[in-house]
Amino acid sequence: MRAPASIREVVENGLCIGCGLCKALAPDHYEMTMTEEGRLRPGPLAPEDPAVDAQILAACPGAVVEAEARGAQHDPVWGSYTHMGEAWAGDPDTRFRAATGGALTALGVHLLRSGKARFILHCAADPARAMRSAWVMSETPDDVMRRAGSRYGPTDTLAGLEEALARGEPFGVIAKPCDANAIRARAKADPRIDDLLVAVLVMVCGGASDLGKSRALLEEYGLDEDELTVFRYRGYGNPGLTRVETKDGRAFEKTYLDLWEDESGWRIQSRCKICPDAIGEAADIAACDIWPGGAPVGEDAGFNGVITRSPAGQALLDSAAAAGDLTLGRAHGPREYDDFQPHQVDRKRAIAARLRGLAAAGQPVFRHAGLRIDALDAADPAQEAGTQERAANGKFSEPMPSPGKR
Ligand SMILES: Cc1cc2nc3c(=O)[nH]c(=O)nc-3n(C[C@H](O)[C@H](O)[C@H](O)COP(=O)(O)OP(=O)(O)OC[C@H]3O[C@@H](n4cnc5c(N)ncnc54)[C@H](O)[C@@H]3O)c2cc1C
Ligand code: SF4
Ligand code: SF4
Repeated sequence: MRAPASIREVVENGLCIGCGLCKALAPDHYEMTMTEEGRLRPGPLAPEDPAVDAQILAACPGAVVEAEARGAQHDPVWGSYTHMGEAWAGDPDTRFRAATGGALTALGVHLLRSGKARFILHCAADPARAMRSAWVMSETPDDVMRRAGSRYGPTDTLAGLEEALARGEPFGVIAKPCDANAIRARAKADPRIDDLLVAVLVMVCGGASDLGKSRALLEEYGLDEDELTVFRYRGYGNPGLTRVETKDGRAFEKTYLDLWEDESGWRIQSRCKICPDAIGEAADIAACDIWPGGAPVGEDAGFNGVITRSPAGQALLDSAAAAGDLTLGRAHGPREYDDFQPHQVDRKRAIAARLRGLAAAGQPVFRHAGLRIDALDAADPAQEAGTQERAANGKFSEPMPSPGKR
């Protein structure tokens, strides 16, 4: 299989997830741009420079995806881990407002309260455009708590990576699994990452929708984006309601199951359909939902599953629990995660065939290592043929954007 040789090739072949690393590493060359389809992509600011692209490609999750085994145990599907189990925020308000049980927020809060980190790089609703997300550096526990919640649209948290490193202070990151892959790959070239980044915390990820998913909801309610003050995808309960509020005081709500019932309207980005590590193998801790069968049957108090994947992740979990910032429930085993996350198991087994389908269509594919993609290969010819056909029909093709508005 051929790897992409330029950032343009990453974008044009549907391998870009819009993580923002391009912008962080080469701000004179790339500006994160919202495309007409509602995807964040690097718009070129200068003529293509192979040396600049090579530096980004060494860590771009559209070009390389790797994880190292750092846990005490190993599972063929779920990878390297030390502990799997229930957890939720010790603070009841955080638990209520967060996406699931507030474990990621509680861990971020604990990093700040304990002095292990001075700030958290993550993302939040853009204060000026509630439907969109922006990367932020949260300096206080209150900042992290205020920014709890899942953002299902485009996010470019890594656009803030260089600014975070330039501060020369210990920090934590909360982001997506593909962001964690990029950070680990970048650490090979930038020693400041291992010196300063004390924890990488991620959610297990079903895929990032483009902004069209959110726009469709506004269309349903007859709203314009600039009327909004709040666009909350879930939270305030588990899973909580999707809620939109307007400047003139109106509010609209939809249940989680109503929002996601029609899979054809998910508008998941193409990189997600071939994601070899949506379960956070490169993170220190991954957090997820633990609904039996993979979907909620009603509201509950908020229970995360957490997977510690490194000694640093395990130490952080233990420290947060000892301080009362995080509450731990019963331990889990990997086969329970198969039940909580059946879509992740199916995807892990389908990726090798999908990548073969892309290669057969003549498209480049990222390099991958340490993710057991070939060992887990279900060798489903329909997955391979289907992906080849989708690629031939342009489903993995995108134009390189001109730099424009976020
Ligand atoms: C795109 C997406 C897909 C998901 N798919 C699954 C899935 O398949 N299975 C599953 O179990 N769970 C999935 N989740 C995760 C789930 O919604 C919760 O985020 C997870 O259980 C953690 O809950 P929490 O209460 O600990 O998070 P919180 O305490 O609410 O913290 C969430 C943190 O994540 C950060 N964040 C939110 N959205 C994004 C984003 N898009 N990109 C980067 N950082 C972000 C926030 O800045 C915040 O710090 C997904 C989440 C997202 C955003
Ligand atoms: S995935 Fe990230 S680093 Fe790669 S091209 Fe897209 S924005 Fe740039
Ligand atoms: S599915 Fe994979 S590529 Fe898509 S946002 Fe999630 S971790 Fe990133």
